Amino acid sequence: MDKLISILIPVYNEEDTLPMLYNRIIKITNNIDYKFEIFFVNDGSKDNSLNIIKELRKTDADISYLNLSRNYGKEIALAAGIDFIAGEAVIIMDADLQDPPELIPEMIKYWEEGFDDVYARRKSRKGESWLKKKTSYYFYRILKKLSKVDIQEDTGDFRLLSKRAIEAIKKIKEQHRYTKGFFSWIGFNKKEVLFEREARFAGKSKWNYLKLLELAIEGITSFSAVPLRVSTVIGFITALVAFIYMIFIIIKKIMFGDPVAGYASLVSVVLFFNGIQMISLGIQGEYLGRVFNESKNRPLYFIEDFNGQKDGFEVFEN
Ligand code: UDP
Ligand code: MG
Repeated sequence: MDKLISILIPVYNEEDTLPMLYNRIIKITNNIDYKFEIFFVNDGSKDNSLNIIKELRKTDADISYLNLSRNYGKEIALAAGIDFIAGEAVIIMDADLQDPPELIPEMIKYWEEGFDDVYARRKSRKGESWLKKKTSYYFYRILKKLSKVDIQEDTGDFRLLSKRAIEAIKKIKEQHRYTKGFFSWIGFNKKEVLFEREARFAGKSKWNYLKLLELAIEGITSFSAVPLRVSTVIGFITALVAFIYMIFIIIKKIMFGDPVAGYASLVSVVLFFNGIQMISLGIQGEYLGRVFNESKNRPLYFIEDFNGQKDGFEVFEN
């Protein structure tokens, strides 16, 4: 068939996985009756990844690549890739073979049936710690409760998107990107396929708990204003309790007189409420900081090289 499908892969320091990844992908795509573009986005790798991609490109014209000017992070790398792929559909997958290319035929089958977002859901995750599994389990459930967007559980970015889903994602120009949320937010027809998530093939995960926490805050703040609401509600409740207590103190004073006492309780009350105030200021700050960043309206990324098939975009290499 004439239709072109792009396989979009963000790459950051993946020199050890790229050759194997390429081999596994073409083993699958060679047996499928579509044209394929394997599109690497080099997200400022500091190792040999870019050279490996360029070498692969020399032997295989179905490889395209976009080389970003620095490391922007996976979310922006995906946004950049989506802007430059040539395909009628895109399959997004990680470079570390945690997302098995063997799932591609099944995804395409559902795409042919008319689904716009065929997402891969993990039945299990290998090579990840108990703590990571638990934290991610609870994070998704909390996020689902907080936001009105129905975010798929146990699902990563590994998925196939149709043309109109791609066009929808392209329109989202936010700096703070929680891409997984966008996939749900755009809507359209969704279909789930199940798979076993393998351990990373080689190299190390770029995520640590601090980064995951950042992504979690990104997810919550870009899809929910509930934390602001919660801080308002806590404010009201504490004010109400304080008011009742004040009336009690005044009456006690008038009826019984009151020698000075209670330094300890006074200090604890002051400290406690200071703490609550700081937390709610912090929550406001998280949102305000995002408003600040968005309002600058900077471009999402800059490009160093591009070598691909998209019409109207010139190939340039530095
Ligand atoms: N990645 C990227 N930019 C970054 C960090 C990661 O493009 O700053 C890519 C990475 O090369 C891989 C994918 O994003 O293809 C997922 O990264 P990783 O495997 O480290 O994440 P995990 O699977 O542990 O969530
Ligand atoms: Mg990984």
